[in-house]
Amino acid sequence: MDNISSKTNVPPAAFLGACERINSISRGDPIANQYNILGLGKVIISYIFPLDLNNFKLVFAIFDPLNHGPFKIRLLSPKSKEIMKFDIAVLSVEKGPVTETSNSGLSKPGDCLIMSKENTSWFIFIPEISNINPTVEEPGCYRVVLTKDERDLCIGELIFAYAKAPLFSEPQIAAIRSNPLAYKKVLITIKCNVCQDQIRAYAGLEKDGKEEARGVVWYGDLPETQKCKCGKAEFKFKYIRENLHALLGKVFTNKPEVSFTKLYEIAVLEEISKKLSALLNSEPEEEVLQKFIQENPILLEQFSPKEIFYKAPILTKNKTDIVIRNQKNELLLIELEKTNTLLLKKRRWHSSAISTCY
Ligand SMILES: [Zn+2]
Repeated sequence: MDNISSKTNVPPAAFLGACERINSISRGDPIANQYNILGLGKVIISYIFPLDLNNFKLVFAIFDPLNHGPFKIRLLSPKSKEIMKFDIAVLSVEKGPVTETSNSGLSKPGDCLIMSKENTSWFIFIPEISNINPTVEEPGCYRVVLTKDERDLCIGELIFAYAKAPLFSEPQIAAIRSNPLAYKKVLITIKCNVCQDQIRAYAGLEKDGKEEARGVVWYGDLPETQKCKCGKAEFKFKYIRENLHALLGKVFTNKPEVSFTKLYEIAVLEEISKKLSALLNSEPEEEVLQKFIQENPILLEQFSPKEIFYKAPILTKNKTDIVIRNQKNELLLIELEKTNTLLLKKRRWHSSAISTCY
């Protein structure tokens, strides 16, 4: 009996999209596998290109795999350059368990084996791409193509979109400084796989002479393009040069090509805590405490700031000590007062909304 796809010209496989997180739960029989998928979509927005695809998963649905025999799935750039390729073989579950891909004649990175049963309908297929190391050089609309018997069939598209990040304002920098988990510096290495020639660049809350002495280039000083020593690779720095700072203030766990330096080491936090305690015991003037907090904005981290303003004017007459716009976009006004200051004056509220007493 013919399968439905050959009768109706429906492609035998569909590209469902890329996702950031996936968890496969095995329940014995492959047919019973479950997937928890987060963020499935056909548009990947990135601040940085070249973009390493290792952190993404591509999700496909294949109709009745046993009917198709071996085929390839390829991701092609807008200029038809091959970004990645999977050679796919299908084996019947009834033929017994296969533990090694070499049993099926597949052994290269990108080789995939699908275990399927007769007469199954749509089969979810998520190939392992981390061993291929695919990299997307530029934003654009990329095609997902199924190749079988020398014929190409487009089964979907994946759009890579570039988001330009604005430079940080002073209040945003103050907010990043207040976050103990934020990173003050990001280093990126671009390498030619042939001659191993590499260029290292960094972005930070400010320039760092030590990095430049080590030959690491400030991201804004990168050239538009540069050829490697062997001439086979041309590094394109347009997006890194515009946007590397966008990665600051974030927490990444799985980006081996990008390394971060933590803004606050634990010893430094202990030191700040001791100094604050000593300062409070000395009954300081308000201005001294304000200056200390301004120099150590980690003390404001508990308010989850997105932006921090110091001595911001309220209406025309007053200034508040600290104003915070938090992650929920609420405005917090902080007044620093001694504990013996009355918060109520002549039956009217004191000008502060929140008072931090010391
Ligand atoms: Zn090279």
